[in-house]
Amino acid sequence: MAQTAPQDPPFSPSLDAAGPAGCGLALRALHEDFETAAGLSQTSPPVVDPPTDELLVLERLGNAAGLFIALRCKQPAAASHGLRVALLCSAWARKMDLSADDRGQIEVAALLHDLGIIGVPDRILQKPAKLAPHEIGIMAHARRLGQEILRASGAAPTLLAIVENVPVWYNGPPNGDVPAGPRIPLGARMIAIAEAFDSMTTDHVFRPARSRENAIDELFRCAGTQFDPRLVDRFVEFAKQDPSQLYRQFASQWLHDLQAHAGGVLAGCARSPARDDAPDVVVRFHAKILDNMRDAVVLVDPAMNVIGWNRRAEQFTGIVAESILAAPWQPEIVEMRDQQGRLVTQRRCPLRLAVASGLPAAGRFSLARRDQKCVTVDAQMIPVLDDDCLLLGAAMIMRDVSSECSLEQLCENLHSKATQDPLTKVANRAEFDRVHAELIQKYRKTGALFSVLICDLDYFKNINDAYGHQAGDAVLIKTAIVLRNSARSCDLVARYGGEEFVILCPDCAVAAATRRAEQIRDALSRTEHPLLAGRRATASFGVTQVQPGDTAETVLRRADRGLYLAKDQGRNRVIQLGAGAGKEEPVRRWTFWRRKRASSPELLAEERMAAPGPLKVVLEKLRGFVSDHLAVVNKTEENILELELVAPVYNARRRTDLRHVFTMTLQFSETPPFRRDSSVKPGNETSQIRIHVRMSLDKVPARDGGELTDYARQMITSLRAYLMARKTPELEQDEDSPRANKILLPIWSAP
Ligand code: GH3
Ligand code: MG
Ligand code: MG
Repeated sequence: MAQTAPQDPPFSPSLDAAGPAGCGLALRALHEDFETAAGLSQTSPPVVDPPTDELLVLERLGNAAGLFIALRCKQPAAASHGLRVALLCSAWARKMDLSADDRGQIEVAALLHDLGIIGVPDRILQKPAKLAPHEIGIMAHARRLGQEILRASGAAPTLLAIVENVPVWYNGPPNGDVPAGPRIPLGARMIAIAEAFDSMTTDHVFRPARSRENAIDELFRCAGTQFDPRLVDRFVEFAKQDPSQLYRQFASQWLHDLQAHAGGVLAGCARSPARDDAPDVVVRFHAKILDNMRDAVVLVDPAMNVIGWNRRAEQFTGIVAESILAAPWQPEIVEMRDQQGRLVTQRRCPLRLAVASGLPAAGRFSLARRDQKCVTVDAQMIPVLDDDCLLLGAAMIMRDVSSECSLEQLCENLHSKATQDPLTKVANRAEFDRVHAELIQKYRKTGALFSVLICDLDYFKNINDAYGHQAGDAVLIKTAIVLRNSARSCDLVARYGGEEFVILCPDCAVAAATRRAEQIRDALSRTEHPLLAGRRATASFGVTQVQPGDTAETVLRRADRGLYLAKDQGRNRVIQLGAGAGKEEPVRRWTFWRRKRASSPELLAEERMAAPGPLKVVLEKLRGFVSDHLAVVNKTEENILELELVAPVYNARRRTDLRHVFTMTLQFSETPPFRRDSSVKPGNETSQIRIHVRMSLDKVPARDGGELTDYARQMITSLRAYLMARKTPELEQDEDSPRANKILLPIWSAP
């Protein structure tokens, strides 16, 4: 609605408001516009360049840019005309120091003032001839249509007033309903002049563009009638330069201003990018993120209808979003199961509970996919509330942990395999050794006591022989159950091998351990075995507690000695050895004599100690020490006993380093009963056996690091513990006692 024929007033006033002459001119102008449009066959040169044109429209109109695009689709020339007029008005408004808001409204009004054209049929728009009266009516209607579209798009009343008054002549309408003169909105008066100028200075197929001078003459000619005369003066002043060369500069100013003043003009519709477009962009980001997440996301509204189902949810369940959106969420459709494998019902559904309670929740579930494959998920249920704490629904985020689960399972299986006896399901020997070594370390550091029970089934071979290996296995399994049931949670029950079990009892002294062994023995002896025709199987026990100088091996050997004593004494009994033991029994395993070695060893540690006599008892205790440390007797000579002890070498790099053979020399003397304590009743006197112990090594390596000396001291400490002796000062020693000389030799010479 911009181009005019030569000699005619440059612009078309409103069909409703204009007089008959104006009406005819306007129609002609419109008609020519349509012809132009047809001639340009739906194309129009860009105002600045296509991307800038696009940006200007989008930045200025936001979502309302769609209206402009619609116009451009229908009539590209009209859209380009709107953009040029908008740029002219924008720059002019700046020159007139109008506020940013006013300028913004004028820009939008200029862009969309010809919007009604989209309601005009093409046959009218492209009609080469004059319009018929009814077609003129359609054109008039189109203007009102444009205003209706803007109103429906939420345009502000001030904006509507501008668009409505663009065609109104300055010298007044025929009736008093329509504002005239200065009462016409300033924006409308400005657009009317800029639009006419643009129309006259633009090429048309039916007519070349007028010169600027010619167009300005025309504006002056219509000033005071069609146009505001003062504004024509100011516009002419402003438009001295050819605006077509300045469009790019206008455009950059426009864009710059839009970024600085982020106010929308088409209220509720147009949006500034900085403020109103942001949520739209964020929504797009959210949608993109949701569909690219590794987690499945299910969104439900308060009525539990599915309102969101991302791609990952489709993959987890095999259900596509289209088929589930708006349908009620039911855990059964994905065969949701809890960790116990129970089907999750609607009543127990965690998502429903989150919606009902408004509280978040989490859990591990499995889902069955349509292809029958199962996926294990860690699910998080998150209720969604609005600012007023009203529930909007809930989100369920599900992470696939199938591989983690199978890995956890695998690790568990591997751990069990490495630490558990497959038949009886108690710990295996390796696990026992590991925990035992840990307890020894702890004992050395903190003195924390522990006891060891060894249990061996009596005549088990006979059971196998009589009832078969399977029945024997059943007895082993049942025995393990009894042991496990009798153990505390901190105890470790292990199968040491064959029909032999061990129990490690931390923080348990030997007396308590012996009582517990007795209870277990009793329980086993009363346990019936179906595969043995209801018969019972008994077991024997050796019990000991850790004591100073012990290694894991000595503890175990001592307990083992107790077991053998129990067997020796008739089986189905408990024998305790070590600290607190009332008596020491003769050991079954004995050492052998070794040839005398010639070398003179290097002394690493020595100690004098006194053990309660008589010498015979002390020597029996000494046999326990020799046995448990796997010591070898090198020689007995008068009152001297020489033992050979092999120290374990840790971190040995070369085979030659693997053994350190110590010599333990014990020199005995006996303090006779007459030097008794005055509190001891006559007849109860005991002799004191005094021992001078020396630990020496043939050759101490240069890089000892103190470990060998430590070992030497440890062995002396262990000896003291076995003999229940006490450390004595050097002066108390009487190494020349003749009684020790006499007694020692016959005892150690015995076969
Ligand atoms: P004692 O009272 O002296 O301990 O006599 P015993 O028969 O129990 O001892 P012996 O060492 O002579 O026999 C142990 C038997 O245990 C021999 C072996 O076949 C059996 N045995 C070892 N491991 C298993 C097993 O896993 N299952 C079964 N059924 N028998 C086993
Ligand atoms: Mg046995
Ligand atoms: Mg055995």
